[in-house]
Amino acid sequence: MSVELKTCPFCGSGGKMVHPMGQWTSKGYGQDGSRISCTSTECYVMTTAYYGETQDADAITAWNTRAYEPDQAKIAELQAEVERLKSTIAELEKR
Ligand SMILES: [Zn+2]
Repeated sequence: MSVELKTCPFCGSGGKMVHPMGQWTSKGYGQDGSRISCTSTECYVMTTAYYGETQDADAITAWNTRAYEPDQAKIAELQAEVERLKSTIAELEKR
């Protein structure tokens, strides 16, 4: 599978595809599903189980979906501004 999984949104560990078996679903009992689970042994985050022809892709999409995607360019810009202001303050304090 070539699709990259994002890190766990709660602990930052990786994610892995798992195939829960023998679960009750709306379609009955025993159908193998797909879900993505956090790889940390101390974090129990996982997607719901998906079933059907696109179950792997559906689980990956669910795992990789974030309510909020940080704007890394804006964060870098603001960090640079903070550093510039710190340096300006340091210069002012020398006077
Ligand atoms: Zn986690």
